[in-house]
Order: sequence, then C-alpha cells, then structure tokens
Amino acid sequence: MSLMSGQEYIESLRKLKTKVYMFGERVENWVDHPIIRPSINSVKMTYDLAQLPEYQDLMLADSNLLEKTKVNRFTHLHQSTDDLIKKVKMQRLLGQKTGTCFQRCVGMDAFNAVYATTYEVDEKYGTTYHQNFINYLKYVQEHDLTVDGAMTDPKGDRSLGPSQQKDADMYLRIVEKRSDGIVVRGAKAHQTGSINSHSHLIMPTVALKEEDKDYAISFACPSDAEGLFMIYGRQSCDWRKMLDGSNNIDVGNKEYGGQEALVVFDDVFIPNNMIFLCQEYEFASALVERFSGYHRQSYGGCKAGVGDVLIGASALISEYNGVNKASHIKDKIIEMVHLNETLYCCGIACSSQGHVNKAGNYEIDYLLANVCKQNVTRFPYEITRLAEDIAGGLVVTMPAEKDFMSSTIIDTKSQMSIGEWCHKFFQGCHNVSTEDRQRILRLIENMCLGTAAVGYRTESLHGAGSPQAQRVIISRQSDLETKKKYAKELAGIK
Ligand SMILES: Cc1cc2nc3c(=O)[nH]c(=O)nc-3n(C[C@H](O)[C@H](O)[C@H](O)COP(=O)(O)OP(=O)(O)OC[C@H]3O[C@@H](n4cnc5c(N)ncnc54)[C@H](O)[C@@H]3O)c2cc1C
Repeated sequence: MSLMSGQEYIESLRKLKTKVYMFGERVENWVDHPIIRPSINSVKMTYDLAQLPEYQDLMLADSNLLEKTKVNRFTHLHQSTDDLIKKVKMQRLLGQKTGTCFQRCVGMDAFNAVYATTYEVDEKYGTTYHQNFINYLKYVQEHDLTVDGAMTDPKGDRSLGPSQQKDADMYLRIVEKRSDGIVVRGAKAHQTGSINSHSHLIMPTVALKEEDKDYAISFACPSDAEGLFMIYGRQSCDWRKMLDGSNNIDVGNKEYGGQEALVVFDDVFIPNNMIFLCQEYEFASALVERFSGYHRQSYGGCKAGVGDVLIGASALISEYNGVNKASHIKDKIIEMVHLNETLYCCGIACSSQGHVNKAGNYEIDYLLANVCKQNVTRFPYEITRLAEDIAGGLVVTMPAEKDFMSSTIIDTKSQMSIGEWCHKFFQGCHNVSTEDRQRILRLIENMCLGTAAVGYRTESLHGAGSPQAQRVIISRQSDLETKKKYAKELAGIK
C-alpha cells in the first residue's frame, strides 16, 4: 500500500515551495498559519480516516492502475457503480467528521473526467494524452497526493468568449508552444484546497470554438512550479482564527475549515508528458460536462455530511434552550432531516444508475447528478434558515468569549465582573453549562454565516457550476419528446 498518514501529509506540504500571499504579503510558513491550518486539518482527515480499519471499506479502493494496491479513494478511478456509491458515502463521512469542506474531492472528480476524455481525444487524433494521464495518476496514487481540480477561469466579461476578451488572460491559455512542452498564462479562480494540494490538474471552463483553441488545455503541474503563485481567499469571520489566548470558542469549529484561492500562472512551463489536451477545442465541452457531473454527484455526499452536523447542533441548542419538546421544533428538525436525506438520495441515485464509459471507468447518471446539484443549490439554504430559527437570535448577538472570561468588575451595585454578567444572562436550561451553549451557538454561526458557510452555502450554490448550468443539462437530458408520447398515447391523440 502507498498511503500517507495524516502527519506525513502535513510534513509533505512543508517540503513544497508553494508561494502563498494573504493580506498583501507573502506567507512563508503557511502550513502553521492560524487561518490556513484548519483547512489543512480538513484534508488531513482524508488521510487519517484511511488509516483506520473501521473506515477502510469506504476510504480505500483497489487501484486499476497499480497492481494489487489499495489506494486512497480520493485518488481512485471508479470501477463500478459500487465505487460511485462508496465515493458518496465516504464524502458524507468526511462532512460529518469536519463540518466543513474537506477539499480533496475536486481532484478526484477531475481524475475521472480527464481519464475518460483523454481516451476519446487519443482515439480521434492518435495523441498520447491518455497514457500521459495514466502515468501521472499512477504517480499520484503511489505517493497518495492531494490534487486541486482546477476548472474555473476568472472569465472577465461573461458575455464574451475567451478569445473575445479585452485582456486575453481572462481564461488560462497557451502563450508558447515548444518542442518540449507549452508555456501557459492566466489564472484559475476559487480553487478549493489549492494551497493544500501537491499538484494541480487543469481543465478548460467552457465549451470552446476553433478561435478559442489556445484555451483548450488540460495539464498537471506541481503547486510550487516556477511562475505559479496563489492569493488566499478571505472568508467571513476568518480573523477569529487569529484570536490569542482563547479556547477557540468564537471560531465555532475548533479544528477544521475550508479554503479557496486564486491560482495564478505567470508563464508556467508544462512539459509534454504532463499535457492531457492541447488545442483539441471540441473536447472541452465533454471534459467540462464530465467534471461537473462528477462534482455535482459529490455534493450529494459532502453537503449531506455537513448537514448532519448542523442538524445535530440544532437539536442540541433546542435541548439547551428547553424547547426540544415543542412540536414545531420537532417538526423543523424533521424537515431538516428530510431535506438533507433528499440530497443524499440524489447522490446515491445518480451513482447507482452509473455506467461504464469507453475508457473503462464509471460515470454517473447525468440527469440525476444535475438534479442532485440543483437541490443542493437550495436545500442547505433552507436547512440553515431552520437552524437559525431554532437557535434563536443569540447566534448573532452573543458577546465574545473574552467577555465570558473577563474578571473586570463593572462598577454598579452588584460589583460583578463582565464574565459573571455574561454567565448570568446567557444561561439556558439550568443543567447545561453556559460554555456548552456558547460553543454550540458559535458552531451554528460558523456553519450558517461564518467560515464554514463558504463550503455549506455559497459553494452549494456556485461550486460545480451556478444553478443555471444544471438547468441547461436537465433540459437537455429530460427527453421531453418521449414524455409527450406517453401523454398522447393515454389521451388518444394520434
Ligand atoms: C466556495 C467555492 C468553491 C469553488 N471551488 C472550485 C474549485 O475547486 N475548482 C474550480 O474549478 N472551481 C471552483 N469554484 C468555482 C465555481 O465553479 C464557480 O463559482 C461557478 O462556476 C460560477 O462561476 P463564477 O463564480 O465566476 O460566477 P459567474 O459565472 O459570474 O456567475 C454569476 C451569475 O451569472 C450567471 N452567468 C454567468 N455567465 C453567464 C452568461 N454568459 N450568460 C448568462 N448568465 C451568466 C450565472 O448563471 C450566475 O447566476 C468554486 C466556487 C465556490 C463559490
């Protein structure tokens, strides 16, 4: 087996010379930075769980590339519908364990999409992209790497195609073709876990025309490639992670977080053996649809796992506040479970209806995967609304942890400290400590409005494509003519 432990993963990141910028400065020791580290801890969980026998059925898979080798499922090419189902179950597990985005899915979804598409490109053009990719993925599996699946370009003016943009770098492109490789320039935006990745797997963002052929590229490159750097994305409440001398109560999630960054390619050289698509523009749409399909399936697992945590937190705060027996609270929890399980149902359904492709790996049912993601653009918003309803207003009005800890006396008749006043007025049921109530309210805040809301809400909306992108596929896959035929037959229309 070629598996890294969680600790080995962290040490492997230290060996990279990844260039990271945040708040206008270079971050040298980004591995231990308090804002970045929680996101590394989330990826670490994908390694830690793979070491534990009770999770190995989900976390490990038999590689089809390396003989008799178990690999981390995050580096696996799906070999059956059972693999597709286990992928979703694994993602739910990770969501439950981290309560946030654990980032390693995008690479896994990109592997499966690039594997299938390079096979078809080679079939048409006699290129060697598929073998290039197999060699790359073997290396990834052997070294148990984390890979950023990079699709989204900055896109500039959305009404214009890549080659029509005023600034030609709005989509990542080839600026030089050499005998030994290509030089690329541009950027990928919103890249989940990119800093925590060893390597990046690049794909085009949109379907392309002949005039856009320099934008039709797919390749892999290491995170510390010459000319590549990343600018960290801010998250709501991120500075709370910098609070000194606290117990991390205000952070909400004591250990885990997500991460996005802008990844810039300022003339990066890509050797021939790392290129998986180079100007064959007509294959861009297949790659985009495959990656999006897999990623839309993913959300039926990860968001359901994070939803489990939020439902649990909502049930706890209802107990702490003494409202857990109220019928409308019980009903709201039931509604949250119903919505959350609907997402999971969609993830499992599109997996169980999967099929093998020409390259030999398994794909999801595209209509069901897009229905899955369309629901994901909505249900987490309703689940967070219900969580905030159950939690009460304190979720956004509670004083800081430092106030609860403060021994500064307020000079009024009672001569009580700030902390004593806070503990007096922020208690709920007498058998629950104020601190526990504080902690669960902060977790709910974190997931509904704070750093984890990036992964649970806005990522649910835009990640794997904004809602309209799914509606286009749903419309294309809905087979309306057959449905009309059913109606005509029953109505007696010839
Ligand atoms: C938290 C998070 C994590 C992400 N992680 C990754 C990742 O790991 N890898 C990756 O590659 N991407 C990632 N993404 C990017 C994601 O795929 C994009 O956000 C998504 O595709 C939407 O693109 P955009 O953000 O540029 O928004 P826009 O494309 O600007 O969309 C905004 C609105 O404009 C509409 N719109 C856009 N273009 C047009 C048009 N031409 N005509 C009509 N309407 C249009 C959209 O439908 C939408 O309603 C992530 C995004 C988020 C928020």
